[in-house]
Amino acid sequence: MTSPSTTIIGVHAREVLNSRGNPTVEAEVRLDGGGFGRSIVPSGASTGALEAVELRDGGPRYLGKGVLKAVAHVNETIAPRLLGIDATRQETVDQIMLDLDGTPNKANLGANAILAVSLATARAASAGVDLPTYRYLGGSSARVLPTPCFNVINGGAHAANSIDTQEFMIVPGGLPSFSEALRAGVEIYHSLKAVLTSRDLATNVGDEGGFAPDLDSDIAVLDLLTEAIERAGYVPGEQIGFALDVAATELYDDGSYQLSGASLSSDEMVDHLASLIAKFPIVSIEDGLDEADWDGWETLTSKLGSKTQIVGDDLLVTNVDLLQRAIDTDVANAILIKVNQIGSLSETLHAMQLADRASYGTMVSHRSGETEDSFISHLAVATNAGQIKTGAPARGERTAKYNQLLRIEEDLGDDARYAGWDRFRKFI
Ligand code: PGA
Ligand code: ZN
Repeated sequence: MTSPSTTIIGVHAREVLNSRGNPTVEAEVRLDGGGFGRSIVPSGASTGALEAVELRDGGPRYLGKGVLKAVAHVNETIAPRLLGIDATRQETVDQIMLDLDGTPNKANLGANAILAVSLATARAASAGVDLPTYRYLGGSSARVLPTPCFNVINGGAHAANSIDTQEFMIVPGGLPSFSEALRAGVEIYHSLKAVLTSRDLATNVGDEGGFAPDLDSDIAVLDLLTEAIERAGYVPGEQIGFALDVAATELYDDGSYQLSGASLSSDEMVDHLASLIAKFPIVSIEDGLDEADWDGWETLTSKLGSKTQIVGDDLLVTNVDLLQRAIDTDVANAILIKVNQIGSLSETLHAMQLADRASYGTMVSHRSGETEDSFISHLAVATNAGQIKTGAPARGERTAKYNQLLRIEEDLGDDARYAGWDRFRKFI
């Protein structure tokens, strides 16, 4: 029986902008009891080939990036089918949209259309039952504030500098609470700016708010970060670790990896990453190899995975089938979770549940093209994921997520737990 107060009476989408100044889909869901939810869809730049389809209009408008087709799919196709459905039945709502779409990768309606409605439905339902979204989704056991991975140096597809590795993150796992971890991240971020300035290096920022100087090797970046951490009064390897997103699919060309002017084989990439781990307190490496290099991933995981988190992003695209393949072949030991890679909340939660069952870590993630929507902060706490990456502690679309986690931490009060190093092998 449906609850009368959470019945969907309105679904509406519009075109708004993301942080890169490109259009994206915003959807709103209204319930008969007055519950209301709104959500905006993010967008990647270094996308995996197997991600769900982000439908864009093409043509001259917004240089082809308009989303009016996806918006029309919500308003004309999805909305009429969801009227009268109980918004607390998230699986039902998502399944209706998947059936309407009828493709494995949401190519008909667009993952951007489906996801906007999916997340707005969860928001409306939580408002309808008068609970914060993290508690509505996670129940009374939702209380773990994730360890934030702050992307403070941007390279690769996210910046126009000479750094090939896409993301250099600082991980304040050795602090006592989320808010203290955030403070450490901010202090190091500003210390890093001072270090860059003192060396006449650029302090312009990339898409995710991290600095984007010209530096010619991973070691040069990690040396600089070590100095910034120490200048801010923190101890690398105790309070602060490093995480990398190599985004190696972007570096893979014709059978080899183009990194810092060298051309490396898959084995040589693994050796390179091993040498970085030997020198720096690196707790996590994401997409260290190309998304199709599954054999290489087996080597990477067997050589480095006992001490280091090995995260699949482009490799796994928040997809249960790909995650199952990884589990079956001992590839990676953690999965990056991006709601728009798979395109619905239910499927995102299925991937996180499978990861949990297989003892794979889960790192909830933003996209490089973000918005003011902070749904992923709720998702991370709801699922006790224990890790989040949502850019530098700068730029409004990034701080929106960190600020929402501060609100949740306050709301949880004494119940709040900070994940800290719990999920990182190096410290277990
Ligand atoms: P994207 O980058 O949002 O541009 O895909 C983020 C990542 O690769 O993790
Ligand atoms: Zn990535």
